[in-house]
Amino acid sequence: MTPPPQYTHLGPFRELFRSGLPILTYHKFGAPPRGARLRGLHVREELLRRQLAEMRREGYSSGPPGPAAEAVAEAGAVAERRALALTIDDGFRSVHEIALPLLVEHGFQALLYLVADRLNGTNDWEMAQGEVRAPLMTDTEVREWLAAGQRIGAHTLTHPWLTQVPRELAREEIQASRRRLEDRFGVEVVDFCYPYGDWNPAVRDEVIDAGYRTAVTTEFGVNAAGADRWALRRITARHASRGWRAVRGWWRRRFGGA
Ligand SMILES: [Zn+2]
Repeated sequence: MTPPPQYTHLGPFRELFRSGLPILTYHKFGAPPRGARLRGLHVREELLRRQLAEMRREGYSSGPPGPAAEAVAEAGAVAERRALALTIDDGFRSVHEIALPLLVEHGFQALLYLVADRLNGTNDWEMAQGEVRAPLMTDTEVREWLAAGQRIGAHTLTHPWLTQVPRELAREEIQASRRRLEDRFGVEVVDFCYPYGDWNPAVRDEVIDAGYRTAVTTEFGVNAAGADRWALRRITARHASRGWRAVRGWWRRRFGGA
């Protein structure tokens, strides 16, 4: 199966972006550390700077996905307003260190999905699968993020596969993460992100019952009028895998063909 295209710059996405609300997904920023398994999920500072500068030059502005998705319902709203939503999953410290100053500099607002019970901690759910340790934002850093005009959403308490755990546990992960973030940071939390993009109709129902107004998946695409607000599509922003190209080039030279 060919993986969906990933976002590095506007060029190949111009047409698609006119047909619905684009929501970009980011994870980690900076150079990938030694031993990182998913190197492509690290967007370097220089690439983020180029991406934001280009979006700004082309007249794009970013805001929360809920109101933006509603605006999509008005015909032509996206093409005219050039709205997009920037989302960042998991809440790594590199978001605070690298992305925050650039977002502020270029006047963009991003929505950061936090794993409520892992703040001040590390990516244990990834380490369990062999990923290298990476620190998550502290409470203080989240407060600075909010004070700079950025937004937060919920990404459960512990980052489970929501369709794989008992329904009661999924409900708790979905409901309590919202409450805990609201109590801790004194802001309204109305946006949710399914860990691993793992959802089904029952999980979606729990998200709606918990009072969220939007939820994002990992399914590729933009969100046209009438899009399901609790199953919004996204496009991953990441580096083209130079390592993979180099390997393919080597393979072709060595053996020929594809
Ligand atoms: Zn995640």
